Amino acid sequence: MTAVISLAALVGLVAGSFLNVVAARLPKGMSLVRPRSQCPHCGIAVRPQDNVPVLSWLWLRARCRGCGERISARYPLVEAGTAVALAAVAAVHAGDPAQLVLGAVLVLFLIPMALIDADTRLIPNALTGPAAITAIALGLALDPSGQPERLIAGAAAAAFFFVALLAYPAGMGMGDVKLAGVLGLFLARPWPSRSWSRSSPGPSWGWRSSPASAWPPGARRRCRSGRSSPSAAWSPSCAARR
Ligand SMILES: [Zn+2]
Repeated sequence: MTAVISLAALVGLVAGSFLNVVAARLPKGMSLVRPRSQCPHCGIAVRPQDNVPVLSWLWLRARCRGCGERISARYPLVEAGTAVALAAVAAVHAGDPAQLVLGAVLVLFLIPMALIDADTRLIPNALTGPAAITAIALGLALDPSGQPERLIAGAAAAAFFFVALLAYPAGMGMGDVKLAGVLGLFLARPWPSRSWSRSSPGPSWGWRSSPASAWPPGARRRCRSGRSSPSAAWSPSCAARR
């Protein structure tokens, strides 16, 4: 688990460096990859050895090597903050790869959204749109059974905020409504009955107790071969078949 948390922190440091670029360039419609990182004062390209997350800022004593102007503390703070956030996600979801990936990706979208919102008072569609698509794609790939809950939570959260926006338009914008939908898509959890059914060790009164599902193909095979599993033995149909 320590290795996963350390790796998440390392990824966070590197990703945080890129998120600084996203937050600076996306609102201006600039490319996120070209040109290379440069000093906002003199425009000199930042050399690779001066672009090491957090450490370069400390080593250069928060000043540009070319012009000597101060470099904002926001850069290392975003890098360190991303590392801490990803490490926290890894610590909480170390045993659940699907939630770990969903949580980490959400962090990587939320940080530039928060920075750009603070700078411009806008949450760009260029982030909320890809975030929603990514949440749906990752949910389908990693935890398809939880997809209905995620879609419902996303729609419900967006609808709730949309009603709030209609009631008090000065309080928020459509960016907040879309962000609420994104949060629902990423953070939805199974209904209590479904999570109980998943964690219940014995026969559940959920889907397994219905006549059609009490006889899954696996249990049928086990009955025929005489190697009955506990759940198959519990099934009344299995007992009758013997
Ligand atoms: Zn400079």
